[in-house]
Formats: sequence, C-alpha cells, structure tokens
Amino acid sequence: MLYSRLLNSLIRNNKNGYWLLKSGILIGKNYVKYFPDKRLPRSFQYLHKIVFDWTYKGIASKSSVWVNLFAPSEILLAFGFNPIFVEAISAFLSGLDVEDELILRAESQGISESFCTFHKAFLGAAISNLLKKPKFLVATSSICDANLNTFRFLSETLKLPFFFLDVPSEDSKEARQYLKAQLSSMIKSIEKLTGRKLNLDYLAKIIKKENATRKLIKESLKLRATKNIKTTLTFEMFMLYPSHVFCGTDQALRFYQMFVDDLKNSEERDGKSIFFIHTLPIFEENFKEYFNFSNKINVLGMDLNFDFLEEINEQDPIEAICEKLLKNPYNGDFKRRFEHIKTLIEVLKPDGVLQICQMGCKQSIGCSMLLKSNVETLGIPFTSIDVDCVNKKNNSKGQIRTRLEAFLERVK
Ligand code: SF4
Repeated sequence: MLYSRLLNSLIRNNKNGYWLLKSGILIGKNYVKYFPDKRLPRSFQYLHKIVFDWTYKGIASKSSVWVNLFAPSEILLAFGFNPIFVEAISAFLSGLDVEDELILRAESQGISESFCTFHKAFLGAAISNLLKKPKFLVATSSICDANLNTFRFLSETLKLPFFFLDVPSEDSKEARQYLKAQLSSMIKSIEKLTGRKLNLDYLAKIIKKENATRKLIKESLKLRATKNIKTTLTFEMFMLYPSHVFCGTDQALRFYQMFVDDLKNSEERDGKSIFFIHTLPIFEENFKEYFNFSNKINVLGMDLNFDFLEEINEQDPIEAICEKLLKNPYNGDFKRRFEHIKTLIEVLKPDGVLQICQMGCKQSIGCSMLLKSNVETLGIPFTSIDVDCVNKKNNSKGQIRTRLEAFLERVK
C-alpha cells in the first residue's frame, strides 16, 4: 500500500511522519463513520467509530496522556485529558504495516530484542517523531512488567513527567492506604503541572457510569454462553477500549447497551466455541481465516475484557479506584488469576480454551503450563500458541497452522 510505503520511508529516513499518521487515522475515522462494515452487528459498527475517535484524540489532541491498559484513566477523563494506551497504538501501527521499521528503531536505541513487541513498536514510534509528545505519562505496576521499563525510558528520553503507581499484589487496609496516598499525590502533581483542577463530583459520575457499564459487561458474558455474534478478533481486541481505559464514558456505556441488544437478537450458539486467554493475534493469517466472521467457530471473547466485574464505591471515587486496582484478579499470584478464569469458563462453557503467548511477554509464557494443567482438569481442551501479535514477520504461517489445526481437531 502506498500509504504504508510512504510512512515507512519517512521513519527510515528520520523524517517527521506525524502529520501523515494523523491524516491516515483521520481518514480512517471518517471512513468507518460514513461507510460502516455492513457485515458487523450495529454495536461493532459503533465500536469501530468510537475506537477511531479515541485513538485520533489520543494522537492528535493537545491533552493526550500515554497510559498502560490498567492505569486509572477515570481520573484523567475527569480532568479532561485524552488517554491512549500502548497496546492500542502498537496495534494500529501494525495495521499500517510500519511495525518492523519501528521495532528496528527501538532496538537501535538499546531496547532488547526479547522485549514485548507491543512495547517496542510503541517506543519506536515515540522516538521516531511519529507521535506527538503527550502532556505526561501514567502507568501502574499491574500485570505487565514491561510498563515500568517502557514508561521510564520514555520519560527520560522525551523529558516527560511520569506518574508510576505501585499497586500491591494483595488487597488490605494498608494496601488501600498506600495506593490512596499515591493517587492523591499524583492528582496534586497533575493539578500543579497543568493548572487544571480535579472535579471529584464529575469523577464520581464517571465511576457511576463505570458500574453501569460493568453490569452490562456481566450481562454480555452470560449471553455469550448461549448466543453467537458475528465477530472478528479485531473487534474483540477493540473491546479493550470500552472495558478498560474508556470505561466510565457515555460511549462505552452506549456500546455495551448496543452489544447486549445485539447478543439478545443473535442466533443460538452452534458449532465449536473457543475462549481466548490473554490477547488476540489480529493480523495473523490463519487466525483471521479460522475465526473472523466464522460460521463454524464461535469466538466467545477474551478473558481480559472480563477481568474485573465488581461494583465499586460510587460515594468515594478515589477509594473506588483503589478497590478496582487491588481487587483485579490479574493482580497477584496465578491462583487468584486462575480462579477467575475458571469462573469465566464455568459461565461461558467453551469447547476449547486457547492462550496466545505474545512474543516477549514473560507473564503469559510463564503461566502457560499452569494454565494448561488447570484448564485440562476441567475437561476442556487447551493449548497455547506462540504468536507475535505486532511484528508479523516473526510468525511462521505453516507452524501456526499446524498447531491451530491440531488444537481445533481436539475440540468437539
Ligand atoms: S503482551 Fe505481555 S508484556 Fe506485552 S503488553 Fe501485554 S502483558 Fe505486557
């Protein structure tokens, strides 16, 4: 594609490609608005629009803030900032076929070859002037150990203020006090840095909408046990926007209302049903062929979109955010994580469970054998497949096909 060739050439020649990236996303944003993909249910057509919109704002706005997936973005939304998360940008850049050039750029600055490519592509974009500098950075220690390294590197290299929240692995009175103190200090520093004042009443409204959205997420989980919605791996991945960084917005709430309606009106589940763990290889050819708009295989979603399903304290928004971060079942040891996955499996009743081990992701590779033995005790076929969800050149189509087909043969 000419657009990708031009963007790659600007990156390779150290020229500023920001304007081209911004225009490309703006065109994409308008395209999906005026020419929605008619194969998609109404909710996914809407999701397509809001994802482009949020991404565009995260890239083009003067109020953008770079975050990780689990950052307390409610606070940023209440301040009026436009958060955007690492995985979202990397996936978009991979969709534009520029990831390889960006990863090479990151590696040329000393980033390890074995580092997660979601992070490497993002780092490459940030140091190649492909992204405009945000106001500041916010990351938590939750789940992904690449965050601290990535955000610290960006803060030092681009001279950006960085707020890091150390989330204890257990929920306790002391842990809440410790986290609350960090959040209060971050809020004060943001107020001082930007001159904006946090409106706690507005933040409480965001938390209220977040609770309403989460109720719908739980309803959608139950419906997916019996209904089959026309989906693609990309749209399951897009759901990370409304289930995480933008949960609490009107758009996220509207999407889940539409999604629940679409599920209710969908056909009954039929054929093989697969539940995904951790992430989705949205650009890998075999996965696209087998799962996107499939009549034979039902995609039941991905565990990360159902990671935290509880109601949080609407009266005290800061306490609510601490509660959410500390009670997240993916924060802490494997036992806690598996208990949660087991509950999801019991609701969804998949015919098979597939874990995607992302290249360079220590936590997914590290728990893969434990997951296998635990899922198999439930009598459900399980496999993990190594895929690079960002850098397409690292994937061997033949090898992945063999593993995927062997797994699907085992699934009744
Ligand atoms: S794939 Fe793993 S290392 Fe990469 S961003 Fe996700 S959790 Fe972090």
